[in-house]
Amino acid sequence: MTDTYVGNPRNLQPIGIFGGTFDPIHFGHLRLAEEMAEALALDHVRFIPAGTPPHRSRPRTDALHRLAMVNIAAADNPRFVVDQREVALPRLSYTVDTLRSLRTELGEDQPLCLLLGADAFLGLSSWHCWQELFGLAHIAIAHRPGFPQSTWKDAMLDILRDEIETRMANPEDLNTCPAGLIVTRPITALDISATHIRDTLRAGRNPRYLLPDAVLDYIQTHQLYLPEPA
Ligand code: ATP
Ligand code: MG
Repeated sequence: MTDTYVGNPRNLQPIGIFGGTFDPIHFGHLRLAEEMAEALALDHVRFIPAGTPPHRSRPRTDALHRLAMVNIAAADNPRFVVDQREVALPRLSYTVDTLRSLRTELGEDQPLCLLLGADAFLGLSSWHCWQELFGLAHIAIAHRPGFPQSTWKDAMLDILRDEIETRMANPEDLNTCPAGLIVTRPITALDISATHIRDTLRAGRNPRYLLPDAVLDYIQTHQLYLPEPA
């Protein structure tokens, strides 16, 4: 490993960093955050909704609506924090830039843990400056239905290559250094996606029980995900 660690002299608990479009946030996201917080002894989980680029290549719900829904969903959990830094940008932010800004704000010795569903991890090696991620945060991969371990184990070998032995870790290792380790966790398998929820609403059907009622109320009040005009 080439990372230089400063250790964790203040014995800080890791902070979970959970980015996504959250279009809309659903119980798959919330269980991931809850179960990873518990299993990895995270101090808190920071939900970071992605911004909306001014010239959109595909329709996407306005960042302020997606942020509002994350705020509603996270409101009653003291271990959930909503972080607006990407929403405030007039462009999409690279994860590496978001982690750099968190690192500057939270200090060199604070363990950070990037939370990813298995599908997100599969695309990691196409991310901007992805090799730098390990110098900035640990990575924790949560299982996701539809993405069996057999598929992402290959991605793991491709990404880690000869570093696999040194980077693969257990949850209790995450507070021994601020960044650079990788853990995988099974979580309750919930085959829920925001795509399916959007499609359900656009088809005029009800997606209740897949997401919090208060989020669904917000969607209905603001008339989000209406059927496309013909
Ligand atoms: P979309 O269908 O629009 O891509 P999504 O449901 O995949 O939405 P995202 O906002 O793309 O939600 O995902 C944010 C993060 O949450 C990603 O790391 C993704 O892997 C993870 N995630 C989303 N849903 C689940 C789920 N049901 N189980 C495990 N991880 C999930
Ligand atoms: Mg997704």
